[in-house]
Amino acid sequence: MTALAAAAAPAAPAPPHFVLVPLPAHGHLIPMVDLARLLASRGARASLLTTPVNARRLRGVADQAARAEPKLLLEIIELSFSPARFGLPPDCQNADKIADNTQMLPFFLALRELAAPFEAYVRALVPRPSCIVSDWCNPWTASVAASLGVPRLFFHGPSCFFSLCDLLADAHGLRDQESPCSHHVVPGMPVPVTVAKARARGFFTSPGCQDLRDEAMAAMRASDGVVVNTFLDLEAETVACYEAALGKPVWTLGPFCLVKSNPGVGVSESAITAWLDAQAPGSVVYVSFGSVTRKLPKQLFEVGHGLEDSGAPFLWVVKESELASPDVTPWLEALEARTAGRGLVVRGWAPQLAILSHGAVGGFVTHCGWNSLIESIAHGVPVVTWPHFADQFLNEQLAVDVLGVGVPVGATAPVMILYDDAATTVPVLRGDVARAVLALLGGGEEAERRRKKAREYASKARVAMEKGGDSYEKLTQLLETFGHGGGGEERWNNTVAA
Ligand code: UDP
Repeated sequence: MTALAAAAAPAAPAPPHFVLVPLPAHGHLIPMVDLARLLASRGARASLLTTPVNARRLRGVADQAARAEPKLLLEIIELSFSPARFGLPPDCQNADKIADNTQMLPFFLALRELAAPFEAYVRALVPRPSCIVSDWCNPWTASVAASLGVPRLFFHGPSCFFSLCDLLADAHGLRDQESPCSHHVVPGMPVPVTVAKARARGFFTSPGCQDLRDEAMAAMRASDGVVVNTFLDLEAETVACYEAALGKPVWTLGPFCLVKSNPGVGVSESAITAWLDAQAPGSVVYVSFGSVTRKLPKQLFEVGHGLEDSGAPFLWVVKESELASPDVTPWLEALEARTAGRGLVVRGWAPQLAILSHGAVGGFVTHCGWNSLIESIAHGVPVVTWPHFADQFLNEQLAVDVLGVGVPVGATAPVMILYDDAATTVPVLRGDVARAVLALLGGGEEAERRRKKAREYASKARVAMEKGGDSYEKLTQLLETFGHGGGGEERWNNTVAA
C-alpha cells in the first residue's frame, strides 16, 4: 500500500468493548476471566473490573495471556473497595476470605458500594462500552448501565437446569415459607423434576438476604439477556425453556474451561502430573470440594477413611482452612503413610484442569459447583456427586438423573459454607464414600454407561467450542449483536440520542 493510499484509508473501527463485573469468589471469577479471554481471543476488548486484592491475584493471568497472544485486548481494572466500613477486615475482598457466616451479609452489602467507582469508570470511557456483563449477584450494575444507556447481560454461574428451576420456583410461589410441602414438582421443566425445598434454596435465600434477592431478580428482569457457561448439546431443552421463561436471549457460550486460563496457583503442577503419570489409565479418583466449602475434622476423617477403604488410587485436595484444627495434620500424615503410593493429598489449591485432563483420572468426587461439574464433563470424567448448598443439589439431579454421568454419595441435607452449620449436620459416612467411589471406578454395565456418556459429552463440548460449533457461533452472534452495529449498538445509539 502506498503512503497516499494508507493516508486515505478509513480508520479501522474500534473493537467492541465488553466490561465484565464478576462476583469476587473463585467460582464466579474463574469463568468470568475465561469469558474475558474468550471475548478477547475473538478480537473484542475485554475489561474485567474487580477489587484490589482480586486484581492483584488476576494480573498474572492477564500478563500470561498477553505474553502468549500479544494482540489480546484483555485488561484487569481495579475498583476501590472499603470492606472495613462494614466491619470486615480490609483483605475480605473474596468469598474465600469470609471467616464465618456472620460476615456473609456484610460482604454483599460492602460489594454494593462498588457501584460508585464502577459508574465513574464507565462514565469516563469514550466511546461508551458496547456491553456490560455482570454477575447475577451484582445487581448494583443495573442502574448504572441503564442510566448510561449501555446494554447489560447478566452472567449466571450455575447450570441452566438450576436457573430454570429457580425461576419457575419463584414464578409459582414454591419457595414461600407458608407452603406446607417439603417437596414440590417444578411445573414447566422439560423433564419431571421434584425438589426438596431445603435443597433448592438458590442464591440470597438465607435470612436477612431478601432485599439482595429482590434486587438480583429485578436486575435480571431489566437485563438484555444472560450468558451461561454451558453448551446446547448438554441442556438443549432446558435452554429453550429458560429462554421462554426469561423472555430474553440465553447465550450458551461454554464450556469456558476449554479456553484454558484456569490459574493453577499454590501447588507444583509438575509434581502432581508426575504422580499421575505413575498411575494406571482411568484408575484415580480426584476428590475436591471447590473453593468455598470447608469440612470439619469429623467430616474430613470420613472422607479420608472412605478413600482408604475403597482401595482406589486417590488425589485429594484438602484446603489450608481445613488444616487449622491441630488434630488434622497428624491424622493426615498417618493416612498418607498408610496409603503411600496410591494416595496423594494436595494441601491448598490444586491445578484442577490439569488433573481432570490427565488420562489417569477416572472419576471425580465433587460438591457439584457448576464449574467443577462442567469441567469434569468437558474432560469426559464421570462424577460422584456430593452437593452442599445453593445450586449444587439441582446440579446433582442434572448429572445423575438427566445426563447419567453421576453416582450420588447420598448427601441429603444442605451444609452451608462455613463451620457452624456443618457442626450440626450428620456427616456423610466413610462407607458411603467407599461405595460411591467403587461404583464410579468399577466395572459393570452401569459404570461403563456412565463413562461412555461422559466421553460423548466431552467430545460434544469440544465441537461446541470449535469454529462452526454452537457455542463458537453463538459468540459470533453476540459480538455482532453488541459490537458491530447490531441490536446492541443500535440500542445504545438510540438511548444516547434520546
Ligand atoms: N479450583 C481449582 N483448584 C482447587 C479448587 C478449585 O482450580 O483446588 C477451581 C475449579 O477448577 C473451579 C473453581 O475453582 O473452576 C470452583 O468453582 P465451583 O463452581 O466448582 O465451586 P465453588 O468454589 O464456587 O463452590
